[in-house]
Amino acid sequence: MTETLFTKIIDREIPADIVYEDDQCLAFRDINPKAPMHILVIPKKVIPKLVDAEKDDEALLGHLMLIAGKIAADEGYGDAFRTVINNGEAVGQSVFHLHIHILGGRDFMWPPG
Ligand code: 5GP
Repeated sequence: MTETLFTKIIDREIPADIVYEDDQCLAFRDINPKAPMHILVIPKKVIPKLVDAEKDDEALLGHLMLIAGKIAADEGYGDAFRTVINNGEAVGQSVFHLHIHILGGRDFMWPPG
């Protein structure tokens, strides 16, 4: 498995405010939050970008989405939250370990910038 910043969080080598964990994924608060709720959901399996996911990852990707919704609801934002996946440096991806941003608690523009 390739080591990333996020595998270090999974392995507890770097501290994080973890809000959810199971055998497939981990969720923790973003260190530089862009909204009152800003949580990242990551698979424990290293998939650098969404486009790198394969057919075998289909159930895992679905699991991440279900967990994102559950976390948003648990945080009190079940009716108003946004999920974002940045795929590629050009659109803002800075950590190359797939992650779903879950954001809530403020107004959001549409379309996103
Ligand atoms: P990206 O820009 O790749 O879509 O999102 C990466 C996110 O990871 C950013 O929102 C950034 O603030 C967050 N991040 C980067 N380093 C750390 C860290 O060490 N701990 C936590 N909790 N979040 C981090």
